[in-house]
Amino acid sequence: MIDFSRHADIQAPTGPQRHCRGWGQEAALRMLMNNLDPRVGENPDALIVYGGRGRAARSWAAYDQIVQSLLSLENDETLLVQSGKPVAVLKTQPAAPRVLIANANLVGKWATLEEFNRLDQLGLTMFGQMTAGSWIYIGSQGVIQGTYETLAALAAQQFGGSLKGRLYVTAGLGGMGGAQPLAAKMLDGVALVAEVDQRRIQRRLDSAYLDVAVESIAQAVARALSARNAGETLTIGVHCHANALLEYLIAQNVTPDVVSDQTAAHDPLVGYIPDGYTVDEAAQLRQAHPEAYLQRARNSIAEHVRHLLTLQGRGAQAFDYGNNIRREAFDQGVTDAFAIPGYVPAYIRDLFSQGKGPFRWAVLSGNPEEIYRLDELALSLFGDNPLLARWLRLARRYVAFQGLPARVAYMGPGERDTFALRVNEWVANGSLAAPVVFGRDHHDTGSVASPYRETENMRDGSDAIADWPILNALLNVASGAHWVSFHHGGGTGIGYSLHAGMVTVADGSEDSAGRLSRVLFNDAAIGVVRHADAGYDLAKSTLASHRDRIATPLIGPDRA
Ligand code: NAD
Repeated sequence: MIDFSRHADIQAPTGPQRHCRGWGQEAALRMLMNNLDPRVGENPDALIVYGGRGRAARSWAAYDQIVQSLLSLENDETLLVQSGKPVAVLKTQPAAPRVLIANANLVGKWATLEEFNRLDQLGLTMFGQMTAGSWIYIGSQGVIQGTYETLAALAAQQFGGSLKGRLYVTAGLGGMGGAQPLAAKMLDGVALVAEVDQRRIQRRLDSAYLDVAVESIAQAVARALSARNAGETLTIGVHCHANALLEYLIAQNVTPDVVSDQTAAHDPLVGYIPDGYTVDEAAQLRQAHPEAYLQRARNSIAEHVRHLLTLQGRGAQAFDYGNNIRREAFDQGVTDAFAIPGYVPAYIRDLFSQGKGPFRWAVLSGNPEEIYRLDELALSLFGDNPLLARWLRLARRYVAFQGLPARVAYMGPGERDTFALRVNEWVANGSLAAPVVFGRDHHDTGSVASPYRETENMRDGSDAIADWPILNALLNVASGAHWVSFHHGGGTGIGYSLHAGMVTVADGSEDSAGRLSRVLFNDAAIGVVRHADAGYDLAKSTLASHRDRIATPLIGPDRA
């Protein structure tokens, strides 16, 4: 018997036995629980999944009520979740989503971190990040391919396709940042990562995302340099503030080949530790004097970006890794912060133009062997796609599972739905022991407006146009996703992004087949349309290859 009232050591049920009245509800329940599994989420006791304070539910009372609602939800009803709190169950229709989620949304003029903090304190809202409040976080494995593709593109542009004999210096070993060392390792490089929280370093060692931990900066740098010079692969976590590591490198005249950062600087009150503070001291200051905390964190962020600019000036390849650190520093007077390029325009946009993004699946059987069989299925279907073939082989070799076994793979329209339909057949004929969940990050091709990340520097200047993620969410409701979410502030922070998510389940039924075919094609296709509309040729040619399924009456600017 599963104890659904448990708040500690939560683990999603596995296997073919349902506890809910349909697999849509059951999958939502299991993925919510999986987000809060201590092997998956960063701080489940506080309901925090990843990304600063990205939470799965507003409070434990809200969590309990979500669970109870899902357990009794009928197959023609829909549960509404308002910023992590279940507010209504309403009669809809069988083909509708079973859950609709809106997190942290604020009207434009009020969309500031200060106002969000005030409302959060009053218990009226919740930060859902991207996949935390939408229940499709799968641990660091969810971001690992994006991190790998970013570093692989950089390596191809600058270093002949490999990081062998190269040193990558960065900070942050949290839920997403923890993928950095493993991605560098997949490219045969050396990674040196500053992290203020010893527990996070240990977590990455335990999950095989990091090779070694070193306490002293001098020793860590010495080991990194000797591995770089020997052309060996080594990933090192060093227990210190990012600024301490960067200051040491600058003083010693050591210039890394690549520098970046993945602290949760998008939320300076919670996600960034000010210079000179331990994690516990920072928690006390945050509690007692939040305004003083914010100012100290922002000053440290400004210093941090100045150091990255210094190393860039000395020849390091620098890039912003989607945490809005440039904007925070710019606001503190670092006027050249944007001399550091963003990673999406530099390395990822071509994938988005083809409708490719961090698509993922999780097997509800709980059996890792099924993931390996699905890898083989994907390779048999798309083995001629070099990106996918290379990735699936690497993933199998390097990526450890956390919680429910899952796989991420950058696939596009046509690929996502074809694959999922085959999987649905396997569920139907008993080749898989239980249904399979298909979802994605909100950080995808057509689902996000974020001018300092996914939509930075769009060709037509449409960076801040947020109609696209809204259309994406509505389209996924119309297409019959099992749950759909719309959030504000994920990735780059409050005021800086709007984004949508969807999850659809393959339970082997005809109903699932229809949903998967519509949702997984349309969801990625709207990303291609968005990029074609912005003028990207690769998107236009991708669109042309799907003419049978997408009609585009008017693409590009309408200045008539
Ligand atoms: P997290 O909150 O889980 O981890 C942040 C880590 O940074 C923590 O371990 C914290 O101790 C550490 N840290 C904070 N300040 C530090 C400092 N000054 N020096 C050294 N370490 C410090 O966050 P996460 O999920 O890892 O996300 C990190 C950032 O990346 C967020 O801003 C998030 O929005 C962004 N993000 C990027 C991508 C991407 O694909 N590039 C995807 C998702 C999120």
